[in-house]
Amino acid sequence: MLSLNLTVPPDRPLAVLAVGAHPDDIEIGAGGTLLGMAESQPSLRVHYLVVTGSPDRQLEARHAASEFLPGAELSIELHDLPEGRLPARWGRVKDLLEDVAHSYAPDLIIAPQPHDAHQDHRTIAEILPTVFRDQLTLGYEIPKWDGDVGRPAMYAPMSADTVRRKVELLHKCFTSQHARDWWDDEVFRGLARLRGMECRAPYAEAFTCAKSVILAQPADPTTVRVREPQ
Ligand SMILES: [Zn+2]
Repeated sequence: MLSLNLTVPPDRPLAVLAVGAHPDDIEIGAGGTLLGMAESQPSLRVHYLVVTGSPDRQLEARHAASEFLPGAELSIELHDLPEGRLPARWGRVKDLLEDVAHSYAPDLIIAPQPHDAHQDHRTIAEILPTVFRDQLTLGYEIPKWDGDVGRPAMYAPMSADTVRRKVELLHKCFTSQHARDWWDDEVFRGLARLRGMECRAPYAEAFTCAKSVILAQPADPTTVRVREPQ
């Protein structure tokens, strides 16, 4: 299948916004993709936003961000909104995202997918497109009890080495989660292998994507972009 490559800006780093409702969401959903980008992008800037988390879990998130994005220009923003209650904090989540949008213009957003069964993940996915109107947004999937992995649109292939490194770092960075009955190598590797099979790769992470643009001819530099009201 013809692959689409990320168009890297010629004059500045590729700017990514990674959003998680909880510490470990970003890494479970897109850790391999982040490892791959950190390795392959000559210049990468990432703003890392996690919306809930106790002090202990925030420490884990901070550690994980640096482990999964070695060499990237990294800014980390951690909040402590109540876990499991984000639908009731809809306005606060929107404020957080709008604050990011005022100072940061990502090219790519990596965030929860809109059909996620967890209410916190889903709330973020619902608000994101009301704030960021001109970004490629990839929605990651998180395996869980609800059985909500669906039919993704985009696949990021991973090598066996990358998936091994991803799982190794998940265990290393998120020790507070080791006792959970779903936290094990087979869950992480099994989903990655399944998604890999679907895109004819050894392993993959998969994403939803509501909208993307394909350049069939060079972009017209005179195109005027109009930012819609939020
Ligand atoms: Zn989560």
